[in-house]
Amino acid sequence: MANPATLGETLAERGITRRQLLQFCSLAAAWLALPAGAVRAMASTLERLRRPSVIWLSFQECTGCTESLTRADSPSVEELILERISLDYHHTLQAASGKAAEAARDQAMAVDKGRYLLLVDGSVPLGNPGYSTIAGVDNRTMLAQAAAGAAAVIAVGTCAAFGGLPMAAPNPTGAVPVSALIHDKPLINIPGCPPIPAVIVAVLAHFLTFGRLPELDSQHRPRAFYGESVHDRCYRRPFYDRGLFAESFDDEGARQGWCLFKLGCKGPTTFNACATLKWNGGVSFPIQSGHGCLGCSEAKFWDNGSFYAPLSTPIRPAMTQAGIALAAGAAAGAAMAARTRRAREQAKKAHRPLTVDELEGTP
Ligand code: SF4
Ligand code: SF4
Repeated sequence: MANPATLGETLAERGITRRQLLQFCSLAAAWLALPAGAVRAMASTLERLRRPSVIWLSFQECTGCTESLTRADSPSVEELILERISLDYHHTLQAASGKAAEAARDQAMAVDKGRYLLLVDGSVPLGNPGYSTIAGVDNRTMLAQAAAGAAAVIAVGTCAAFGGLPMAAPNPTGAVPVSALIHDKPLINIPGCPPIPAVIVAVLAHFLTFGRLPELDSQHRPRAFYGESVHDRCYRRPFYDRGLFAESFDDEGARQGWCLFKLGCKGPTTFNACATLKWNGGVSFPIQSGHGCLGCSEAKFWDNGSFYAPLSTPIRPAMTQAGIALAAGAAAGAAMAARTRRAREQAKKAHRPLTVDELEGTP
């Protein structure tokens, strides 16, 4: 386990220059809305890091969150940071197994007590301790043991953050999110099915640099990444605003790249950074590939009806709203627009999802 090399030395060994580290830090600082001065502080701190201890526990999950993190196709600063910090215990990625793996976890909890970061993916089944165990220890007990000495707890993915698929009705295992059990530690939720890898790495970089979590919203999500809806930043938004919607996945509207709202897109009520950071190194995201957002980073997204049913029907496109305003008089139309604007501004400030009524301007 002992490894004296710093992250800076490891990066140099792997051909990553300081300039590339600075590039990563300036990106991370921009994502996290940090001042420009934070870039060099972040780079110097990360460079000097000597393998900060991270314990990663996987409970009721599909391993998609770990898959997402390890899918990059070329070595990157992000991967190397993860490689450097995720070795103490991660039963999917670690080389050790059986008693040796559990001994590594015990050792990390003892040696780095009060300093290690605890990352958790998956929900915790409360229905029966036997539903999910690791080395004979049930998930609830292992979470309590590992959280006791952690500096902070990071719930990675929608299962850990909100219960996710295991908690979908009728919730046969009695699954709960990590936040239902951890109340005495700094906790951050990074939802998504899976979450965007860059978001996880940026949150880790922030904690490792400043010793604290970034600013959170009321659902414990980092505001920098979950402060706006997918719809707010979607490049198809001008079509939504003009009332131009694809009616099927192969019609002329779909070919023209029109809005996917009528095909079930949940972007208007989903808060995530997919439309800005995108996936696979910024190549694309689901809506750019022609499919609506499923709302995977929101609580209960499995129970919110069909992925292909529109949020409400019929939608009132811009033309219809104008008609309503004309019929009711210009004053009523202006009042409705003002109310909608106010609701949207308030939702934005509070970083809470808009309701469909607020979105469409229903008084
Ligand atoms: S409804 Fe979906 S496709 Fe349409 S603008 Fe909003 S996020 Fe984009
Ligand atoms: S576009 Fe929506 S469903 Fe797709 S990954 Fe982003 S939040 Fe999840």
